[in-house]
Amino acid sequence: MEQKKDGEDRLPRCSLCSRPSVIRLRDPDRHLCADHFCEDLAGRVKKTVYLSAMIAEGDRIAVAFSGGKDSTALLLVLNDLLPSWRDVTLVAITVDEGIAGYRDETVQCAENIAKEWGIEHHVVSFSSLFRRDLDRILEGREELACSICGILRRKALSSAAEGAGATKIATGHNLDDEAQSVLMNALRGDLARFVRDSSSPFGQCFIPRIKPLREISEKEIAVYLMVRGYFPELPECPYTRYALRAGVRAHLSALEFRHPGTMQNLIAGKQRLATTLAPVLSGSPITTCRECGEPCSGTTCQACDLLKKILP
Ligand code: SF4
Ligand code: ZN
Repeated sequence: MEQKKDGEDRLPRCSLCSRPSVIRLRDPDRHLCADHFCEDLAGRVKKTVYLSAMIAEGDRIAVAFSGGKDSTALLLVLNDLLPSWRDVTLVAITVDEGIAGYRDETVQCAENIAKEWGIEHHVVSFSSLFRRDLDRILEGREELACSICGILRRKALSSAAEGAGATKIATGHNLDDEAQSVLMNALRGDLARFVRDSSSPFGQCFIPRIKPLREISEKEIAVYLMVRGYFPELPECPYTRYALRAGVRAHLSALEFRHPGTMQNLIAGKQRLATTLAPVLSGSPITTCRECGEPCSGTTCQACDLLKKILP
């Protein structure tokens, strides 16, 4: 008979079997063991994908794969769920922005994982696409790091996904990221962005973007990777200190800890507001950039405007 370790009797047990629980989830309140938690999480991702019609038969999904926690969990879950969708294929895409002391290690980690799971993997770098890496682009304008990086990374990802023949781009945004974005847009007073769904609306985008993990919390992702045997402990981007997101993340996590459900309430509130305000704030119609053909609201897109300014 299996010997129980000291104190094991006192550990909470899975609500579905008698094994030790690895996580407690809300709505409904339940404890889950490693196997039941993985099953539960994959089931919820599948439901999110289904309810928002994120994946269709024949899709080729480009997974934005930095090698960090969220994108590793995303690739793992989608790869496991692949047999649920007919003729759907995955390709992992890693963007190497060129950030010294940070990106090399995460690119290597992404390469190892994609190889281990036998997933086609492409790496695209800022230096090959924009002739300079991020560190050089940011010289003298470091405080704008995340805005510049975000715009160019989006462009790099679209272009690599297009090159790989993808029909959708999946990103690893989780529940915490979504809640942080709501609060950041509110703090910046950016009402148009506040009400806009941060996934591109289908039909208006070059390659539609999907966020299959948008209802899964950061904590769940960490536990999921741990029980699946992956511990991506990677260095932090040196530009994080300039990011508004870092402060918002710390405050929201503290609020969520003291008042569970805060993040979900914030997202739900924003969605209710968006339904009312979106028609009033619809802004300029979506057109296509005359330089690159990506959707935009003027004559050129943000990335082409930025590139003209920083790379004369
Ligand atoms: Fe880019 Fe900012 Fe993220 Fe660093 S923290 S990778 S600069 S978005
Ligand atoms: Zn169980």
